Amino acid sequence: MPVAVAGGGLGGLSAAIHLRVAGYSVRVYEANTRVGGRANRIETDGFRFDTGPSLLNYPWVFDELFRAAGARLEDYVELLPVEPGVAFQWPNGTRFALSSDLAALAASLEPVERDVAPGLMRFLSDAGAKYDLAFAKLVSRNVDNPLVWFASLRMRELKRLSVWRSLYGELGRFFRSRHIREAFGSYGMYLGGSPFELPGVFSILPYGELAYGLWLPRGGIYGLVEGVERLARDLGVEILTGARVERIETGGGAVKGVRRAGGDVDAFSLVVSNVDVPVTDAQLLGHERLLDRRRRKNARVRMTPGVLTFYWGVRGAVRGLGHHTIFLPEEYRAAFRDLIRGTGIPRGLPFYVSVASATDPTLAPAGGTTVFVLVPVPLLHRMGDVDWEQVTAEIKARVLERLGRHGCDLTADRIAVEHVYTPRDWRDRFGLHEGSGFGAAHTLFQVGPFRARNYARELRGMYYTGASTTPGTGMPMVILSGKLTAERIVAREG
Ligand SMILES: Cc1cc2nc3c(=O)[nH]c(=O)nc-3n(C[C@H](O)[C@H](O)[C@H](O)COP(=O)(O)OP(=O)(O)OC[C@H]3O[C@@H](n4cnc5c(N)ncnc54)[C@H](O)[C@@H]3O)c2cc1C
Repeated sequence: MPVAVAGGGLGGLSAAIHLRVAGYSVRVYEANTRVGGRANRIETDGFRFDTGPSLLNYPWVFDELFRAAGARLEDYVELLPVEPGVAFQWPNGTRFALSSDLAALAASLEPVERDVAPGLMRFLSDAGAKYDLAFAKLVSRNVDNPLVWFASLRMRELKRLSVWRSLYGELGRFFRSRHIREAFGSYGMYLGGSPFELPGVFSILPYGELAYGLWLPRGGIYGLVEGVERLARDLGVEILTGARVERIETGGGAVKGVRRAGGDVDAFSLVVSNVDVPVTDAQLLGHERLLDRRRRKNARVRMTPGVLTFYWGVRGAVRGLGHHTIFLPEEYRAAFRDLIRGTGIPRGLPFYVSVASATDPTLAPAGGTTVFVLVPVPLLHRMGDVDWEQVTAEIKARVLERLGRHGCDLTADRIAVEHVYTPRDWRDRFGLHEGSGFGAAHTLFQVGPFRARNYARELRGMYYTGASTTPGTGMPMVILSGKLTAERIVAREG
């Protein structure tokens, strides 16, 4: 049976691959000139930048994708280990780096928390059990009923997941140092909540990084996208680029096809949208009254923050920056509050810097450096009608000033190539609702069966995949999302 996939992000490509393996004939419509979505590439003067994701973990998820298609990841993508992993820095000079090497990790944390080893071991064992439980019973299945979802867990397992305790509180069970708690809790930024309100189960995020390491595909994250695209094409998935879907045509309570920019309609009785769920419902399915209830529900969905990103090509080496660094503020709690509920640049300005050329020097011209800076900011409607040029200039100055304070010799005059994506650019380039970088947030009532489902109950043949539906955001999760959507289609449509 033919299926149309609107959007060639990693979620859409994963759905396409799994559907093709299940025997469907699949056509992907991607609006941009390249697939990959947020995981895209900018090339200028010999510098190659990844636009979005830079931290790749859980490589086993990608292994499974290739194996499901009878192929081997290593024949398509070369993964380079990134060691040490993420480094954290505070204005008062406190710093440490994470590592998948247990001895190196303990040695790095010891200066911030004396006798850290017992707490660290207990943390790893506890978060490891949560991780196994989450993937075995919660993340990898299509379950719509909360009771069925929770009933898959024994009481002991439910308690172990710490869904009722906050992430920050959970970390406090193992670590006395506020810096370790703040570092591990800062992953909440990507999940759209503060560590003071996200469920404790998300201690699996730092755990996953420690246990499975961080990786950089050769050629950058886009090297992985190219591998996944090649796999899809090898299987016979048809991929059209520069092919925007203007409308998903419907009639009689069912999907009828996709209308392309220019007006041509291709008939399909099955459509998977990889476009953000609220955007799909409001814009692609705009005239379908049946979906009014969904749209009202979408309006209440909390999204992860917006993102402002800088891509700097620097001639020569940059001192004082490893591959991954997160710069945290002293006003940690206030910064999260500002990010989620505020209307301007967050206090203390937390940000993340990635220097991928430190691991793969081919990403920059000889001896040069690629610098990617991600600054989370409130969603577009919260920021209001701001002058993004001015906000960008202010944030850039503050980022460079903070880097300088940490001994990094990156100054404005050393930046030979610069690109900037404001949340507006993210919205307009990739259809991201409200400029939200990571899609719907992962608060307790927006995960599992509480999250937007990967099908529309109201509309036959209409399916969703990607960061705003189940199981959640991040590259590994959207690869799983594609698998879950394909399983859903096979189960419902045969
Ligand atoms: C700045 C940033 C940093 C990130 N960092 C990380 C990280 O370090 N690690 C990690 O794992 N994850 C990270 N993420 C999250 C990760 O990028 C996403 O969760 C994931 O890539 C989302 O994939 P997707 O398939 O759901 O959606 P998308 O990548 O958004 O794909 C949707 C696709 O649909 C296309 N499209 C939109 N409208 C139409 C239309 N009308 N017709 C046809 N096509 C259309 C878009 O062009 C796009 O290609 C980051 C995200 C951002 C923005």
